[in-house]
Amino acid sequence: MTEKEAIKRIKDHMEVHALKEIRAIYITQALNMSIKALKEIQQYRKIGTVKECRAAMKKQNPKKPVKRSFIIPYEGIDVCPNCKEPINKKEHHCKCGQAIEWSDEEC
Ligand SMILES: [Zn+2]
Repeated sequence: MTEKEAIKRIKDHMEVHALKEIRAIYITQALNMSIKALKEIQQYRKIGTVKECRAAMKKQNPKKPVKRSFIIPYEGIDVCPNCKEPINKKEHHCKCGQAIEWSDEEC
């Protein structure tokens, strides 16, 4: 069940209680809080998980490229310190989003 489906079911349930019970106000307040919490979770899911946000923030810190020299055909090629894909000196960010720090003499 998704948050959207849960919200719909809670709203349907609230209507049933409101029609049958005079004191439905208490459960209605609690269910309204539940709907509010579920809507907040929906917003957080759009942003990403805490783990995903931390990983994205970590990529913002520029890292120096790594020289790949242990494989003969790629000897001397700079690779991304994050995903290990080859990068050229014009790139300030790898395709994976990692910020690349080039020293002045290398640019
Ligand atoms: Zn990368």
